[in-house]
Amino acid sequence: MKKLIAGNWKLNGSFEMAGTLISELKSAVSAGEGGPDILFCPPFPYLPYVRNLVDGARMAVGAQDCSAEQGGAFTGEVAPSMIADCGAAYVIVGHSERRQYHAETDERIAAKAAAAHQAGLIAIICVGETEAERDAGREEAVVGDQLSRAIPDGATPENTVLAYEPVWAIGTGKTASAEDVRKMHAFIRAKLQERVADSASLRILYGGSVKSANAAELMAVENVDGALVGGASLKSGEFAGIISAAG
Ligand code: PEP
Repeated sequence: MKKLIAGNWKLNGSFEMAGTLISELKSAVSAGEGGPDILFCPPFPYLPYVRNLVDGARMAVGAQDCSAEQGGAFTGEVAPSMIADCGAAYVIVGHSERRQYHAETDERIAAKAAAAHQAGLIAIICVGETEAERDAGREEAVVGDQLSRAIPDGATPENTVLAYEPVWAIGTGKTASAEDVRKMHAFIRAKLQERVADSASLRILYGGSVKSANAAELMAVENVDGALVGGASLKSGEFAGIISAAG
């Protein structure tokens, strides 16, 4: 399966930073057909700008969140149809920072993913256990529950990507071991059969302190179909190194 390397800029960026990063990356990454798909997820205001900068054949743009509503009296929200209107193809839903700081439940995440599908977007649905849950040996129970609830009806390998992001590995510099990742991705692959037809071809990304130095090992693990990258996606050299390792 062709891998996907997605960069989540979180609350970072500016027009200047976007221009520099993408032009440096375009010089560093070969324009050929080989290699992984590349995705940039900047904050909302930069979506159309970044869309115009990227090379459409290999690079796409996504949002970091969306409303579960398509329109109406929902001040501050951004509808999936508006994200699609900006030329974006993807949207991340259920990132652990949204779950933690905005109290997003699995049911809300499923509603957002369904709304994204309705607008023709590919939803990247994030799941992952906390450190306390892993220490208690509950990581599969927790992730299994999230998968049962956060994946909407109608999810397919064409409109959905899964991202396994252990919360304790996000932005901490700690990475799950290749063996932990192998076990969890195998578990997710098996569990997906309950919710998705043709689940074998649905991409499962790993996320959590991925950088150029550890990307090759992680991308070689079975059932790892790419990476969701936070911090390292803001540095063109690091992001280019991860893209090369995936490809
Ligand atoms: C993320 O934001 O999804 C993430 C994995 O962050 P980092 O790569 O910085 O750990």
